[in-house]
Amino acid sequence: MGLLVQKYGGTSVADPDRIKAVAEHIVRTRQRGDDVVVVVSAMGKTTDDLLRLAYEVAQAPSAREMDMLLTSGERISIALLCMALMDQGVAARSFTGSQAGIVTDTSHGKAKIVEIRSGRVREALEAGDVAVVAGFQGVSTDANITTLGRGGSDTTAVALAAALGADACEIYTDVAGVYTADPRVVPDARKLQRLSFEEMLELSATGGRVLALRSVEFARNHGVPVHVRSSFSWEPGTWVGQEDPTMEQAIISGVSHDVSEAKVTIRRVPDRPGVAAKLFRALADETVNVDMIEQNVSLEGFTDISFTVPRDDLSRAITVMEKMVAETGANGFTHDPDIGRVSLVGAGMKTHPGIAAEMFEVLAAEDVNIEMISTSSIRISCVVREADVEKAVLALHRAFSLGELE
Ligand code: ASP
Ligand code: MG
Repeated sequence: MGLLVQKYGGTSVADPDRIKAVAEHIVRTRQRGDDVVVVVSAMGKTTDDLLRLAYEVAQAPSAREMDMLLTSGERISIALLCMALMDQGVAARSFTGSQAGIVTDTSHGKAKIVEIRSGRVREALEAGDVAVVAGFQGVSTDANITTLGRGGSDTTAVALAAALGADACEIYTDVAGVYTADPRVVPDARKLQRLSFEEMLELSATGGRVLALRSVEFARNHGVPVHVRSSFSWEPGTWVGQEDPTMEQAIISGVSHDVSEAKVTIRRVPDRPGVAAKLFRALADETVNVDMIEQNVSLEGFTDISFTVPRDDLSRAITVMEKMVAETGANGFTHDPDIGRVSLVGAGMKTHPGIAAEMFEVLAAEDVNIEMISTSSIRISCVVREADVEKAVLALHRAFSLGELE
């Protein structure tokens, strides 16, 4: 007998029939003898609807009240799922994030979990109940209701699994697992059997939409095995866990893409110590989330610096750059939202030379121009025109034979 944490996303509990189907699956899990803690998201598009509502009554809704509003979505789901479970003869108890002891810091809208006081959830399990916890929310150290950022239910689930010492965290969603590429772009994308935490981190950070990045960080830091799977077909999905040293690593596991960023270039900044520090401090102070950074070779004491930011942060970045041009004596700056990023991810890259060259050759053959490059030990990313992204993903998936069986 083990303990499983099962997380169901918004599409998995979108309507009464879905909620009943999820309840049936939880009953099946119980019948196999496992204890279950369930984490649920808000039904369907509830969170988006609530957000829209907030902006209909106020131009700049208070962050505290926004969290109060958004957490109501998950509250609906936990109560309905418990009712459905009881209707099927299984004892169940719902908990808000606060009741489940999810303690966070005080940053509304993007709170970080600082502690989990799992006493009440453990009590429910000991009494033989299924504990159903509202995802995406907690209570701050100063006793306000907080949310963990969009997609935060994944983080709730993994954090609870770590705190309770669960055997695994199952993330149920509307896709069957993690794929070698987005199946909407690449029709022969293949479901991966397993992935290392590091590979999943890189995929989540570069546009893979299956797991929230923070949840993967949490899983890696606490060694929680994660099983991403479908709540529609219930078939086995993709396991994310520690790299298995006895198994040969695939050279490339997947190709991801992201069209949510914009590029900013500041031209002819004086090339002297402290200029980059000044620029990126000013951006950080305005909470602009800088991703890739590229500095050109210096010419006659001046250089160009390019960086990417989420498009949502672009207007703040522009305001900062206007100030920085004046303060640094740069020649001006440009910004371009029509970029995309294509990334190759694979643990085997570490020991396999030539992958970057091959990637660039594939892009060249497709006549795709590379505007920026960044790498980690298991990832190569290229910034290209947004219009070229799909063509690039398809070509890379084909060239690295990712659609063929493992
Ligand atoms: N309901 C929240 C959202 O839509 C949290 C989640 O689904 O994980 O972002
Ligand atoms: Mg989600």
